[in-house]
Amino acid sequence: MKQSTDFLVIGSGISGLSFAIKAARLGSVTIVTKKAKVDTATNLAQGGIAAVLSPDDSFALHIEDTLRSGAGLCHEDIVRLVVETGPDRIEELIRLGVRFQSEANDPSHLDLGKEGGHSARRIAHAMDLTGRKIEEGLLAQVAANPRITVLENHLAVDLLVSSKTGTPYQPHDSFSDQCLGAYVFDRETGRIDTWQAKATVLCTGGTGKVYLYTTNPDIATGDGIAMAYRAGARVANLEFVQFHPTCLFDPKAKNFLISEAVRGEGGRLIDKEGRPFMHKYDPRGDLATRDTVARAIDSELKASGDDSVFLDITHQPAEFVKTRFPNIYQTCLSYGIDITRQPIPVVPAAHYMCGGVLTDTQGRTSITNLYAFGETACTGLHGGNRLASNSLLEAVVFAHQAFLQCQADWPRLTGLRHQPLPAWSSGRAARIEECVLITHNWDQIRRLMWNYVGIVRSEKRLSLVQERLTPIIQEVRQHYQDYLLTPDLIELRNIASTAELIVTSARIRKESRGLHFIVDYPEANDREWRKYTVLRRHHAPEFLDIA
Ligand SMILES: Cc1cc2nc3c(=O)[nH]c(=O)nc-3n(C[C@H](O)[C@H](O)[C@H](O)COP(=O)(O)OP(=O)(O)OC[C@H]3O[C@@H](n4cnc5c(N)ncnc54)[C@H](O)[C@@H]3O)c2cc1C
Repeated sequence: MKQSTDFLVIGSGISGLSFAIKAARLGSVTIVTKKAKVDTATNLAQGGIAAVLSPDDSFALHIEDTLRSGAGLCHEDIVRLVVETGPDRIEELIRLGVRFQSEANDPSHLDLGKEGGHSARRIAHAMDLTGRKIEEGLLAQVAANPRITVLENHLAVDLLVSSKTGTPYQPHDSFSDQCLGAYVFDRETGRIDTWQAKATVLCTGGTGKVYLYTTNPDIATGDGIAMAYRAGARVANLEFVQFHPTCLFDPKAKNFLISEAVRGEGGRLIDKEGRPFMHKYDPRGDLATRDTVARAIDSELKASGDDSVFLDITHQPAEFVKTRFPNIYQTCLSYGIDITRQPIPVVPAAHYMCGGVLTDTQGRTSITNLYAFGETACTGLHGGNRLASNSLLEAVVFAHQAFLQCQADWPRLTGLRHQPLPAWSSGRAARIEECVLITHNWDQIRRLMWNYVGIVRSEKRLSLVQERLTPIIQEVRQHYQDYLLTPDLIELRNIASTAELIVTSARIRKESRGLHFIVDYPEANDREWRKYTVLRRHHAPEFLDIA
């Protein structure tokens, strides 16, 4: 069936919802989201959202912290833009109904948390439920807006671009093609609709499910990156995968994160004998940045052969711990761990993708009328390593930037004529009878990525993983030809593409920087590698120098 809307927003996390609320001032907005509305990483965010919100802090300090964490790969202009407009975006969230925690003795001031890598208290939070409160606030605004439609259980399969649909487009400036919308799979009916839109927005979140162990929700299968790449857009810096150092280690807990804020409030990492170890790795000790902490834990675990290390906050008063971390306290308790009295067993897990679909200051990709922001995008903010709590901030800042661009472009966008777009064709595909074909490939890819492309990499393991992934990816492509689409098959294809792009990017970068650590090149090499690794389908890798 053919459908149309002014703005097709793919994803219902902080980035998609923030943009939708603004874009509805211009035209009709349809949000497609592949499961329930709240199935997002946003909903799980615990720590908070960083911005300069206190007189004891300054833009210069937040910029400096972000640049330091980014290991020489941040775009300073973008960092400045995000930091300097951040406080306005937080104000906006508050006006939209998001309730951040105030100081106990002064309700007119936000209670600001501190996290690893930040030199000042600047994290606005709602205890350890910040993401849930943001999601609730934004969803309430969306529900009240008659110009926004939300379609749950709708999975975008592929983008519609002029070059593939036979519609006229003359490439110009930095835009190689034009986006016209997307094919969208309806889980309930099994139908694939052709959605035409004036602007299409990728807000599809992260890639954590490419790895066996992750803090991410099940939706994080790299769909936006894979769709954009297939459509011919540039993707960048996919070797920079952030592993969160402290995910709860318990066979029954699927992916529960222990927020960095626990270390911010004095939590210490210890080994099973109770010995602190972070001072051996970094002068900042337990407050070192995530990459350093994750590598330190990896190294401790490899040396000791233990299953986990421990995070100890027992020296803080029990009441403080229960009030400051109610969600972490209750969840750990449900697994039999009283964190006011016992250290928490933790391991690192894939957490955040710093690379993504390459965009400019306005969230525009290299395909006209296709935008990307939130975790799906590579805007230049995070560089080689994201500073904690900068991602929710980046999402709201770029949702705003993209809205400003659409507003400026609105006369052009309203002039776009409807194009006759091809309906989805399933060819000779048949119904899949053996789902094990899909689940087995999923498992193979995620295990390979964990064991071979994890926190510490080597040339040998990267070349082995490429050899092993190639036949699996061919098999997945064949499934895609042979079988009628199912959500699992769509996601498997995206996981396979994203894994391949991560491996290719990691093999290109012959140095260690930020989150990319490779034993064969243990040092950063500014002379040759202070640049982005950019991949584009059917093109040789490109490199983008940091200005
Ligand atoms: C456990 C955890 C804790 C975190 N804590 C913090 C924190 O304290 N501070 C911070 O700044 N960051 C934190 N992060 C990171 C941050 O939450 C995410 O980077 C951010 O929420 C991403 O927002 P988003 O809108 O880009 O994507 P998400 O919130 O992940 O939303 C993605 C949306 O896209 C949809 N989608 C995906 N693919 C498709 C498709 N093919 N078709 C249709 N819909 C699709 C999904 O269903 C979902 O609705 C945390 C992340 C995790 C996992």
